[in-house]
Amino acid sequence: MKTWDVIIVGGGIIGLSLSIELRKHGARVLVVERGEPGREASHAAGGMLVDCPLETKPALQPLATASAKMYPEFAHELEVESGMKVDLRDQGTILFPSEEHSNRMPEFFPASVADLEPVLAESNPEGTTVYLSERSVDPRALTAAAWKTAKNRGVDFSSGDPVTAVNLSDGEVSGITTTKTTFLSEKVINCAGAWSGQIGPHKFPTRPVKGQMLCLAMPKRDLIKHVIRSPKAYLIPRSDGRLLVGATVEEAGFDKRTDADTMQRFHKAAIELVPKLADARILEDWAGLRPGTPDDLPILGASATPGYYVATGHFRDGILLAPVTAKVMAHVIEGSEPKYDLKAFSPSRFIGT
Ligand SMILES: Cc1cc2nc3c(=O)[nH]c(=O)nc-3n(C[C@H](O)[C@H](O)[C@H](O)COP(=O)(O)OP(=O)(O)OC[C@H]3O[C@@H](n4cnc5c(N)ncnc54)[C@H](O)[C@@H]3O)c2cc1C
Repeated sequence: MKTWDVIIVGGGIIGLSLSIELRKHGARVLVVERGEPGREASHAAGGMLVDCPLETKPALQPLATASAKMYPEFAHELEVESGMKVDLRDQGTILFPSEEHSNRMPEFFPASVADLEPVLAESNPEGTTVYLSERSVDPRALTAAAWKTAKNRGVDFSSGDPVTAVNLSDGEVSGITTTKTTFLSEKVINCAGAWSGQIGPHKFPTRPVKGQMLCLAMPKRDLIKHVIRSPKAYLIPRSDGRLLVGATVEEAGFDKRTDADTMQRFHKAAIELVPKLADARILEDWAGLRPGTPDDLPILGASATPGYYVATGHFRDGILLAPVTAKVMAHVIEGSEPKYDLKAFSPSRFIGT
């Protein structure tokens, strides 16, 4: 019977990027996805690559900064290998700080909004704004490119059947079982996002944190050039003229419905920020489930069961953190020392994992 060096459970951006990295290290890899790869949180995301001390938890800052730096190469490699565009943009972000941010504002340079983004309403909220040299990416294009790259590099895929169990033999991992069959491997990595806690033998404490999003067609393709983050909503322009307006952060279980009130609120907020958006067409709305954890930090590393690993809980930053997660987890799985200190993300910080 065929065996793999590593089985990855979950084909979101985390599982896909890790599969590519492990193939580069020579491993035979199988990704087992219950639906189609890249259709859950990684499909719903805005794609802001937020690397800003005002908004990033201090424990996460080193990984966030490292991953943000890796992005140009990561995106370039996926584009070249897949032949697909991922729309990595580096126009930067205009941030309208919230009250909580305002105390720390002196660390940042104020931005002249009129120069940077003339279409923004003059009477904009609370005076000070800052410019951040962040990038953004299109997560749908990114996951599609990562899936194609993984396939091109020889990663195997099983799509359509959920993993129901991680199998053990003498206390060590021997493979996984899906609703249809069994696959053999001495190493299994749980990358099942918000659903990670549903797969034994450990109950990783992930939970779904719902985010609703509205997508508009800008009346002019490059009407807005920067990502704009205000306390009311954020606006993320894409190079093809779409504009994402988001996002809620809701504790609503595994519910992915959108509601009309929220969409109206986003529409109104977008027009308040950029009055010319009154002419924008509404294209689409959706909701996705971020993988949250009790301390809002990812869970990365080896579990207490030999051969069983986890890379999940990326909450609001999984698109940003995909490249660095792939690198550090490949080292963990090979048994070599990762370049970054992963103590804060250890599965052992949660009892029984
Ligand atoms: C509205 C919204 C906006 C966001 N904006 C941003 C942003 O701007 N920047 C950013 O960096 N991040 C953002 N995020 C967060 C980001 O989307 C996530 O952190 C990231 O996508 C998590 O990736 P993942 O691969 O862990 O999870 P997912 O993409 O959810 O993938 C998990 C996969 O596991 C599969 N799976 C689950 N259970 C099983 C099973 N039993 N067997 C087999 N497969 C299984 C699922 O089908 C799924 O495909 C946003 C999220 C949302 C919802």
